[in-house]
Amino acid sequence: MQQKRKDLKRCMKRLDALQKELVKHRTCKRLKMCINQLRELQREVERRQPCRTGYPVSESLKLSHPIKLCEYTISFSQLDNCGRELLEDALNARCFAYAPYSNFKVGAAFRSKEGRVFTGCNVENVALTPGCCAERTAMLKGISEGCRVFNAGAVVAYHPSGYTTPCGVCRQFIIEFAKLDIPIYIAQAPESSAPIPLFEDDAEVLVTSIYHLLPHSFSVY
Ligand SMILES: [Zn+2]
Repeated sequence: MQQKRKDLKRCMKRLDALQKELVKHRTCKRLKMCINQLRELQREVERRQPCRTGYPVSESLKLSHPIKLCEYTISFSQLDNCGRELLEDALNARCFAYAPYSNFKVGAAFRSKEGRVFTGCNVENVALTPGCCAERTAMLKGISEGCRVFNAGAVVAYHPSGYTTPCGVCRQFIIEFAKLDIPIYIAQAPESSAPIPLFEDDAEVLVTSIYHLLPHSFSVY
């Protein structure tokens, strides 16, 4: 009987050890999962790195080929000064939109190679065709003052389903005066009707490029 008790005790000890081993492995598994998640997050952070540390214009010039430019989203507060400034200028320009027919107000801002920022809003017309988009209004202002090259742009509008990107005509128009890989910042305008509209820190911004917006643009060259 005593021997049997001893055997049982030994078995219980072994069982205890096995259980501990099992828990240890389970923990390892969880740890592995956590490490993988961390690695994924790290990759995501690295993917977004240029927008937080780089200056968009030089970022654009650093790329050997526009295809390497990533299209990503980032919160407004994480964006570099250049992007934030352009978006705020576009948001302010949107206040002047003349859109009595669609009530769809758009603001845009483009920075020229010389560092000047030109803003624009959409201007509608009862005959529709004579109207002009915000992007072209902004760029036309710069072009008419001698600026021929733009290094960054921003477009702001409000649509409940998501971002408002430039229309096809504007995409072709922008290409005429910009490199394919310049950053184009797209954001939703805040819904508030405050006299001085502001972006929330966590407002999501899409950073794209002309290359992504119009990869097969028309060209005679
Ligand atoms: Zn347009």
